[in-house]
Amino acid sequence: VDIISQPAKKLVKTAKVFAVQLQNGQNIRAEKLIIATGGKSYPATGSTGDGYKFAKSFGHKLTRFQPSLVPLEAKYFVDTNQKNIPQLNVNQLQGLSLKNVAIEVWHENTKLYEDFGEMLFTHFGVSGPIILSASSHLRQINSHLLKIDLKPALDEAKLDKRLVREFEQNSNKQLQNILKNLLPKKMIPVFLQLVAINPEIPANRITKAQRKQIGWQLKNLWLKVEKFRPIHEAIITSGGVEVSQIDPQTMESKLVPGLYFAGEVLDVDAYTGGFNLQIAWSSGFVAGNSV
Ligand SMILES: Cc1cc2nc3c(=O)[nH]c(=O)nc-3n(C[C@H](O)[C@H](O)[C@H](O)COP(=O)(O)OP(=O)(O)OC[C@H]3O[C@@H](n4cnc5c(N)ncnc54)[C@H](O)[C@@H]3O)c2cc1C
Repeated sequence: VDIISQPAKKLVKTAKVFAVQLQNGQNIRAEKLIIATGGKSYPATGSTGDGYKFAKSFGHKLTRFQPSLVPLEAKYFVDTNQKNIPQLNVNQLQGLSLKNVAIEVWHENTKLYEDFGEMLFTHFGVSGPIILSASSHLRQINSHLLKIDLKPALDEAKLDKRLVREFEQNSNKQLQNILKNLLPKKMIPVFLQLVAINPEIPANRITKAQRKQIGWQLKNLWLKVEKFRPIHEAIITSGGVEVSQIDPQTMESKLVPGLYFAGEVLDVDAYTGGFNLQIAWSSGFVAGNSV
């Protein structure tokens, strides 16, 4: 087997033979050809989207591309009327990682996705495992809202009891200090601005309405999602060579005999956790066995 490390520039089929034109000018001829050039994401790894161009040149249909398993840009928290809170930028929380939180993604009063686990605030918005998974459920981003429940293990009533206990046990302590028992340190200034309660108020002067508001805010941190991060930051490309034009038994093109596809170049994508690698390996195995 000859292994040639050269980018392919052009693929053509003449009669029954494929010709692969390499960057160094060399031409390779073959009766069978497998296109396994990956997607468009993380181009530094070599996958710059060439496979789509090749597929198109053979008449294959491409479905719409978009980044998937990708961080989300978010600038502002939103209030209960879904209006931006301009004085409170999400990037104030950059570097903060949250464990065991629940998220929901909403669009026009419809819940599109919910998950539980780890996430991270960054200089541009949000990332981390549950955010990446959420991204794969979004198509175009347009006024999408992300809700973060910081206390998913406690329902409203249990959380209220917990707050009553905290405030009774620390009756002379200031709210900003009591919050250290409930929130990561970095979150506290942001949280205090969101609830708009004097940080120095002692627990014994917090009203029932204020306590309820604190409880609500702990379970309702809403922010507006602006857009996906660019495709070069996405773990995978969603979209690609239309699978109905490929025979899944062999991975051979139904349009061009002798032409095969495998991996992310196809319009197949999945969650993190090895599923995308498995798609690449399994389709590559089938294509390799079929040529
Ligand atoms: C940072 C990161 C983390 C990831 N983590 C996971 C994970 O945890 N689990 C998971 O399942 N998936 C993960 N993925 C996705 C997974 O790596 C890909 O889905 C998978 O590698 C796709 O395999 P592929 O062979 O189709 O394409 P690729 O692995 O992209 O390989 C394509 C190859 O084709 C070559 N190529 C491209 N164009 C040309 C050309 N014109 N001529 C010659 N060669 C060319 C490229 O150089 C590259 O070597 C991750 C991806 C990234 C970027």
